[in-house]
Amino acid sequence: MILILDPDAAENSQEYQQLLSHLAAMPGIQSRVHVERGSEQTVTEIYLIGNTKALDIADMQSLPCVERVVRVSEEYRILGRHKDDQRPTYFEYNGVRFGQDTLHVFAGLCAVDNREHVETMLKSLKDSGQVCTRMGAYKPRTSPYAFQGHGKLCLPYVFELAGKYGIKVIAMEITHESHMDEINEALHLTGDPTGVMLQIGTRNTQNFELLKIVGRQTRMPVLLKRGFGITLDESLNAAEYLASEGNRNVVFCLRGMKTNMGDPHRNFVDFAHVPAVKRLTRMPVCVDPSHSVGSRAASSDGIMDMMHVTAQGVLAGANMVLVDFHPEPVKALVDGPQALLLKELPYFMEDVQIAREAYLKRIELRQRQK
Ligand code: PEP
Ligand code: MN
Repeated sequence: MILILDPDAAENSQEYQQLLSHLAAMPGIQSRVHVERGSEQTVTEIYLIGNTKALDIADMQSLPCVERVVRVSEEYRILGRHKDDQRPTYFEYNGVRFGQDTLHVFAGLCAVDNREHVETMLKSLKDSGQVCTRMGAYKPRTSPYAFQGHGKLCLPYVFELAGKYGIKVIAMEITHESHMDEINEALHLTGDPTGVMLQIGTRNTQNFELLKIVGRQTRMPVLLKRGFGITLDESLNAAEYLASEGNRNVVFCLRGMKTNMGDPHRNFVDFAHVPAVKRLTRMPVCVDPSHSVGSRAASSDGIMDMMHVTAQGVLAGANMVLVDFHPEPVKALVDGPQALLLKELPYFMEDVQIAREAYLKRIELRQRQK
């Protein structure tokens, strides 16, 4: 059960203290307070855990400071959608809004290789009016002998250049908690020129200790990739781990499932799950066409499979696209064969826009049918 408090309920007020002592005295019920400070107002929610079935909604609603009460199902308590649940489906980070109604493209390098490529990439993004990107510094690789990413060594120039080209959010995978500290330190040393969305890769979707530590910080939002060999429910529970520790600014990313049933694609594209995730949870949903399809192969119509699946995801309401680009794919140290070329960026953006407009028209059509 969630108690949503009046927006003006002050922590030091008598009513608020009364509410807390009332809850503390309830046998078999534990409470956890979550405060979300937005630009316009502060939302305080109290999660009641334990035998809440016996509690009466009207009784709880009559407690001091309580504005609304939501009875949640067992599943995805914080990030899930529940009956009569009108909690927001968006968050803001570094001036960018991420919601189930917005769309952002995160085009960029799968792995940072050198300063020159980072700069060329970011300049192209600025020229296309983009404020988000992807930049891999810590790369989980199949072979221990493969390039593992430049790690903290590349962070200062990546952040500095991001600031120079007006990038507000960089999606960056971390594979260990120490990477979070390295990112924070580099952001601080460069004067916080940009923001970072911490990416948890598909190989770490169920690394519960990593999820807990990342979830305990609320400075940076998190992009959680679906696990490539587990059910959707298991991946959504992984997202809930982040939220249960305190960070509910989570974007869920579909990136294909590992099975040879998906051949000739690198993974079995799962973008039909975009609407399912938006129905089951309040998270914005991202699609990653690069790691799903894994090649530049094109259909008989001349359009690359990667662009077809991107359009399919966007047409189904995706809120974010994570996609590999590279100025010189033959020189890329990771995933060169699936990278799009910089000259294809305006084309890619226009193709995404066509799908987005079609999606918005479909919503309009649905509204007219009601
Ligand atoms: C990536 O986005 O660079 C990546 C490694 O993705 P995934 O975790 O989905 O394989
Ligand atoms: Mn990759």
